[in-house]
Amino acid sequence: MKIAVLPGDGIGTEIVAEAIKVLKVLDLPFEMETALVGGAAYEAHGHPLPESTLKLAQASDAVLFGAVGDWKYDTLDRPLRPEQAILGLRKNMGLFANFRPAICYPQLVDASSLKPELVAGLDILIIRELTGDIYFGQPRGRRVATDGHFPGAEEAFDTMRYSRPEIERIAHVAFQAAMKRDKRVTSVDKANVLETFQFWKDIVTEIGLQYPEVTLDHMYVDNAAMQLVRAPKRFDVVVTGNMFGDILSDAAAMLTGSIGMLPSASLNSKNQGLYEPSHGSAPDIAGKGIANPLATILSAAMMLRFSLNQAAAADRIEAAVSKVLDSGLRTTDIWSEGTTRVGTTAMGDAVVAALAK
Ligand code: NAD
Repeated sequence: MKIAVLPGDGIGTEIVAEAIKVLKVLDLPFEMETALVGGAAYEAHGHPLPESTLKLAQASDAVLFGAVGDWKYDTLDRPLRPEQAILGLRKNMGLFANFRPAICYPQLVDASSLKPELVAGLDILIIRELTGDIYFGQPRGRRVATDGHFPGAEEAFDTMRYSRPEIERIAHVAFQAAMKRDKRVTSVDKANVLETFQFWKDIVTEIGLQYPEVTLDHMYVDNAAMQLVRAPKRFDVVVTGNMFGDILSDAAAMLTGSIGMLPSASLNSKNQGLYEPSHGSAPDIAGKGIANPLATILSAAMMLRFSLNQAAAADRIEAAVSKVLDSGLRTTDIWSEGTTRVGTTAMGDAVVAALAK
């Protein structure tokens, strides 16, 4: 088994180092190879996703990814910006299904911005379609400039599109995931205004007929945003398009206390996957040694379960994280009165120690 390790920029390198420490103590038969991606790759090779990095990712069973981006690249031509590396990996590896579980650990109920009774026991799964929608529409409007900005332009546009097979396959993923959970799917759309999402709704409904045990309901995205903060436990599996999923999954992340706790998996039809924390490169805290590595460590657990067929090892990591939280250790983002504040490395060390017990 081969893992491509792409730490990226900002806190990416700090948190991936902790996940690697955890993976190494499991003593499993896999090989890890590291490569540059994002701003770091742009600095070294002039491109955020060099051919060699893409080849390594494609030739691996799984990719463990940190995060990319920094404000200093905001003036670069869009194709050269660090974030393009993610889009390139998703497109070239066919990673169409993004799993973002939002689980509220009982130990962190007080770190949520919502009342404890609203989030205690929360366990929802947001499934975001990842390779279609407005982020991949053609043509992209560009009236004047090529530097990523539009001085003097009169308009700019992006096109929203989905094809039937793109919707069908993500719908199947959602219904199959629901079969292993509480058997409820909420499909989020904007069918009242957008043709693309009326099409989405019709096709999800059609696929739903093949899963009679699963209850399907439809919700407009504006209502879904409201329900996520009003009564998040009403959801089980939420399936939606790329843009709505981007926004809703970050909102769901905060329900659980911190985006620093949330793993994600992006899979293709061969179960090859890219595993990364839900958050970005956090330039505001990079280099300070205070980033929470748990989202990345939990992403490594998802990687073991989904792409490397090592479910028992994944369970061990998740249990170790829970033990560490029980012991009261907290990084700054999840710290509350009465708990012990630790940095990135100490948190990684604590997970390693809990695994050894
Ligand atoms: P961000 O997720 O990097 O940070 C948002 C806030 O959450 C910041 O205050 C940050 O300090 C905090 N935070 C994030 N992760 C944390 C962690 N592990 N521990 C503690 N606190 C954490 O989002 P942003 O600030 O909007 O974006 C920063 C850069 O990251 C941008 O260049 C953006 O494009 C990029 N980005 C990359 C990805 C990715 O690599 N997949 C995703 C989102 C944003």
